[in-house]
Amino acid sequence: MSSEPQMTRRELIKKGAAAGAVAVAGTGSLSGCSPATPSNLPQKWDREADVVVVGLGGAGAAAAIEAGRAGAKVTVLERMPVAGGSTVLCGGLVYMGGGTPLQRATGFEDSSENMYKYMLAAAGEGADPAMVRIYCDNSVDLYDWLVELGVTFKRSYIPGKWAAVPTDDGLAYTGNELQATYRAIAPPAPRGHHVQGPGETGFVLWPPIKAGVEAVGAEIYYEAPAQRLVVNSEGRVVGVLAEVYGLEEYIKARRGVVLCAGGYAANKEMVAQHCPLYLRSQFQVGTLTDDGSGIRMGQGAGADVRMMGDAFAYSGIYEFGQALVKGILVDDKGRRFIGEDNYGTWVGKALIEGHPVSYVIVDQAIWDEVPELGKKYLTLAGQADSIPELARAAKIAPDLLENTVNFYNERASRGEDPEFLKDERYVVPLENRPFYAINYPAAYVGFFTTGGLKISGKAEVLNAFGKPVPGLYAAGRNAFAVTAEQYPGSGTSVGEALIFGRIAGKGVAALEAWS
Ligand SMILES: Cc1cc2nc3c(=O)[nH]c(=O)nc-3n(C[C@H](O)[C@H](O)[C@H](O)COP(=O)(O)OP(=O)(O)OC[C@H]3O[C@@H](n4cnc5c(N)ncnc54)[C@H](O)[C@@H]3O)c2cc1C
Repeated sequence: MSSEPQMTRRELIKKGAAAGAVAVAGTGSLSGCSPATPSNLPQKWDREADVVVVGLGGAGAAAAIEAGRAGAKVTVLERMPVAGGSTVLCGGLVYMGGGTPLQRATGFEDSSENMYKYMLAAAGEGADPAMVRIYCDNSVDLYDWLVELGVTFKRSYIPGKWAAVPTDDGLAYTGNELQATYRAIAPPAPRGHHVQGPGETGFVLWPPIKAGVEAVGAEIYYEAPAQRLVVNSEGRVVGVLAEVYGLEEYIKARRGVVLCAGGYAANKEMVAQHCPLYLRSQFQVGTLTDDGSGIRMGQGAGADVRMMGDAFAYSGIYEFGQALVKGILVDDKGRRFIGEDNYGTWVGKALIEGHPVSYVIVDQAIWDEVPELGKKYLTLAGQADSIPELARAAKIAPDLLENTVNFYNERASRGEDPEFLKDERYVVPLENRPFYAINYPAAYVGFFTTGGLKISGKAEVLNAFGKPVPGLYAAGRNAFAVTAEQYPGSGTSVGEALIFGRIAGKGVAALEAWS
């Protein structure tokens, strides 16, 4: 018989924690859900830092900069040989408002409250008012932070609505702010801040941000995929198991870990599990490292997830020529289902979720206005001198399409679209033969996932009971923040990554070290 006094189970566990027992919580078998046992102890820690950041894209960089500025020793693990993730590939749009210097310089009034009203309504079902509030309240500060890092925005505004700004102009409408439904909720203001440079300028945005990470002395390891979180017996995340220089290494995180490893659109199994309709899309917007590894690592450590069924789904009719918005978008039953002037994510989502086989119907007058470049990307399902003939050619229900066109034309001749409130600039009857049916299927929709780990307003990762997983933070597409049923406007994803990445970096650096 043992001479030691009998210990309760709780005391035994505490004793284990004091001895440094750890469990490994990971991407594969969700082993982190199992209790810690001495066999899970790393033999030794190969490296250590105050803060370990997983993934060096927008969110990871923002977290590393803020943690480093707060005095933490930061180690960054990046799976690829180069940094930047989707952030370096992006269009260089950052959704900011509430009265940024650029908005003011170009003559637009905005307030945080105004921006909040729009974003909350636009983000739709599942939006979290507190997270949207944080985004809006941190927006002007994000602008100043970017400018201080060396990012420049030209003091100019480009009219129209853009998902990707084709010029070097600084400010654009990129969401649904001007659309009738949202204009009634909040006075519109353009909030797409476009990093100065030609067209899509993620590659211009990225270098000053990366330089910011280097400036705080963060140690960056490339080709270093994180594989598992290391969790002690009290459930605190205390490190990361990663492959560094081809070897498995345990990296101790004295204060905590920030997961910024992107979304999961490149992981078909996860897409099939969480948002299967998005398998209809043939275009992932992102990189192959968006395989959900960060989300799975967090889940392995006990994290909850949020809004996993939602995604950014983009298909902007106006991208092929603004004139196309004067046409009508119908499905294979010949029904209209959305105002054609909506921001492309509203259209994309409607296609993916309800109308995967669809067509834009235009007449000759509209077709003549579409630029040749836009036409190059379009294919015709049919062309005919009457709507019933066109419907037969495109395999749309002929009677229904004729009804739809007649109903639309009658009201359009008065400049009205009572069904979908399309802006009157685009409301014209379709009456000039021949008519065209342009293929516009869900397969053309580009998507990335917007659900992820559940985080608090402080970017702490939360468990299924709504409590923080100690020592664990997340940001960017690795977490759910603002974008819910809908994507409020181009620039929101980089905005979320930077705003919540910064919050995560400050929060993790302020944690008490566990060793
Ligand atoms: C072509 C294109 C245009 C876009 N345009 C815009 C735009 O203009 N505005 C906008 O707001 N959004 C845009 N987006 C979306 C936006 O770029 C991303 O959603 C956003 O940048 C995501 O930031 P992030 O930090 O979460 O992820 P990322 O920037 O992708 O960074 C994640 C990083 O984590 C690394 N990583 C992954 N797994 C691991 C692991 N296990 N261990 C270590 N490292 C790992 C990846 O290699 C990557 O470097 C665009 C996307 C694309 C592809």
